[in-house]
Amino acid sequence: RVIMGIESSCDETGVGLVRLHDDGTVELLADEVASSVDQHARFGGVVPEVASRAHLEAMVPTAERAFATAGLKLSDVDAIAVTAGPGLAGALLVGVSAAKAYATALDVPLYGVNHLAGHIAVDTLQHGPLPTPVLALLVSGGHTQLLRVDDIASSITELGSTVDDAAGEAYDKVARVLDLPYPGGPPIDKAAKQGNPKAIAFPRGMTGPRDAKFDFSFSGLKTAVARWVENAERAGDQVPVNDVAASFQEAVADVLTAKAIRAAREHNIGTLVISGGVAANSRLSELAAERCAEAGIELRVPRPRLCTDNGAMIAALGAHVVAAGRSVAPLDFSANPGLPVNVVSL
Ligand code: ATP
Ligand code: MG
Ligand code: FE
Repeated sequence: RVIMGIESSCDETGVGLVRLHDDGTVELLADEVASSVDQHARFGGVVPEVASRAHLEAMVPTAERAFATAGLKLSDVDAIAVTAGPGLAGALLVGVSAAKAYATALDVPLYGVNHLAGHIAVDTLQHGPLPTPVLALLVSGGHTQLLRVDDIASSITELGSTVDDAAGEAYDKVARVLDLPYPGGPPIDKAAKQGNPKAIAFPRGMTGPRDAKFDFSFSGLKTAVARWVENAERAGDQVPVNDVAASFQEAVADVLTAKAIRAAREHNIGTLVISGGVAANSRLSELAAERCAEAGIELRVPRPRLCTDNGAMIAALGAHVVAAGRSVAPLDFSANPGLPVNVVSL
């Protein structure tokens, strides 16, 4: 069966096509993404109105490209999955409306699915079926969570999350302080490779004995970096951008991996999957690999292209939802900007 996935929760318009095989494996056929990130860069963050308009313009051309790459026709589609939330309301509505139109025209079932679960499900396109249970460290622009996944199609439990900024948000804010472009993840990753991660001892938030075990905090780290840079500038020193980037990145990777390993141990889970845009970070996967090897935990990190927002992740999740025989969404469902992570499909 061919599943079409539509993603429009933030600033990426994504259309993915996958094939669900009888043995439950899911094969990637096409993954086309159009991003409006350049239109937001000068604002240092996504402008919702601009994103919605860009989705509207990009949706049909992106879908056409996906079908062309896969060598398929619209009539080959057996089911459609669309991101129902969480995300920006206006942006989500463009994808949901498009999905309803395609589903009605093609007379195929429609599934409204969770964007965050999609970030995890995408790993099955690269590494095959997920073992159960699996621990997911979801690190993206808007979320930072540790999740216990007992069934990717139906059962996700939150073990902890950030109490303030998401990891990706911290990257974007620190990039601004360092005069690096938006989004901040890739340029900080690059600068950090030339810097010394031990140059500055930035704080590791929420790691004290009295802090919640699986929660995160990144706003203190962000403020510490801003203050450090300010002080250097006030003293008339040239800011050592590479060292600041490397030291900041080390603090983020240290906290994320330490807590993930702790959660895996306490919940007796043998596999960790790291996903979401920040999973594309080179130091995070490197440190996670080291620490997982020490702890005897299997590590799965999808390739960077699959970590950031795309339509294939929604198609992949849709395929698992179809395979599990979950119910089809009524055609009058709406987008839910605050959809909680435990609701995998509507
Ligand atoms: P959410 O999934 O929470 O709704 P989102 O969809 O906007 O948020 P993603 O597209 O999954 O988020 O991730 C975008 C984030 O990933 C940005 O904050 C970006 O800076 C960060 N990011 C991308 N590449 C890297 C990298 N190499 N290192 C660190 N962060 C990165
Ligand atoms: Mg994005
Ligand atoms: Fe995302």
